[in-house]
Amino acid sequence: MLLWIFLVGFAAANEEFSLENKTHHAQYRGSQVLRVRNATESIRNLLKSLEGEKAIEIWKQSNVFGKFTDILVPSFTLSFVRQQFENLNATFRVMIADVESAMHEQIAIAPRRQSNKNKKSRSYNLTFQRYHRISDIYAYLEYLVSKFPSICSIETIGTTIQGREIKVLKISGSNAKFGFYIEGGIHAREWVSPASVAYIVRELVEYRSKNSFAENADYYVSPVANPDGYEFTHTNSRLWRKNRRDSTDKSCPGVDLNRNYGYQWGGLGASRQSCDETFAGENSFSEPETQAVRDFLTKIGPSVQAYVAFHSYGQYILYPYGYDKVLAPDSAVLQKLGARIARNIKKASKKKYKVGNSAILLYEASGGADDWAKGSVGIKYTYTIELRDAGRYGFLLPASQIEATGKDAFIAIKTITQEIAGIGRKKKSRF
Ligand SMILES: [Zn+2]
Repeated sequence: MLLWIFLVGFAAANEEFSLENKTHHAQYRGSQVLRVRNATESIRNLLKSLEGEKAIEIWKQSNVFGKFTDILVPSFTLSFVRQQFENLNATFRVMIADVESAMHEQIAIAPRRQSNKNKKSRSYNLTFQRYHRISDIYAYLEYLVSKFPSICSIETIGTTIQGREIKVLKISGSNAKFGFYIEGGIHAREWVSPASVAYIVRELVEYRSKNSFAENADYYVSPVANPDGYEFTHTNSRLWRKNRRDSTDKSCPGVDLNRNYGYQWGGLGASRQSCDETFAGENSFSEPETQAVRDFLTKIGPSVQAYVAFHSYGQYILYPYGYDKVLAPDSAVLQKLGARIARNIKKASKKKYKVGNSAILLYEASGGADDWAKGSVGIKYTYTIELRDAGRYGFLLPASQIEATGKDAFIAIKTITQEIAGIGRKKKSRF
């Protein structure tokens, strides 16, 4: 009865919740992010049913008992949801007391002021002091090609549903022995991912003289793997995750691109319902964004030995498989190298990243890019890295943390490159 009364009220409020306009952050006024301890089966079931009723949105999930699930609770369901937790004696704490304020905080940090002289000499707007639209990120790639034509080139590997280009920057090594694919921004709302990938690009190109390890590889860098979704988070709905595919009934657009890849597609942790955040699509590789990566990697062939996809948040270094609790035969190698990455990051920044198999450490998710890269293409060193933070801001990480997060990401790329190239293992490496 209580749920029924709640749902009637919720249906009316939901109209407003989905408003798409310029002041889209206002829809989150009074919404909170809660961290709930996953202590019992009944708490887990409650979370599932609340999510099914759209009374909450799952931000970060763990299927492991005793761990936490982070949820976004809209203001108009807040008292109902909190009451439900109290009824079950569920332990929870407030991570973000007002989501709208956190959104403003994230974008409020002004860029470092450039002097006029400095500004004139630059042909791009990208900074690491704020989050940028895709046009700024792409303009930076174009600038690098014009300034460093001997090592940089751009290939447009596909076009999105809304007609945006999917670009890959190739950074050629003078002594390249293998290819290294770097993917950012497949989930639209994880803003620190494209920003960190852009940071990696700057290190590999503009600061190349102090990063000579990079000569051992050809890097293929796709900073924004989901351009339509990424732009939508800037213009309409900050917490959008999927691409912008129209669904058959028009009411629930979007496919989760990281459930659309063709290795064990449509299994655990992927939904067949278009309204769900993890909707896997009508078929594997049904989306132009995933087709583009598939075709490009098939074309560049077996030289690629590493594939790293950057996501946020949680600070995890994850290796396949994700479709079930199944380990690849060489998983011990991936665990060991993952632990080395985590150690190097900790040395540099004191931040802790947990290392493990994604299905065991977090939850099952089939149709991911990482499973496909490992299982179908056979790329040995495949990782999904969840960047900062550990949950204080979640997807709304303040821009003041972009540089430090980019540095974590760069350390991962450096450590993996050194491992494959067989360098830097004995020497004490500095980051
Ligand atoms: Zn993600």
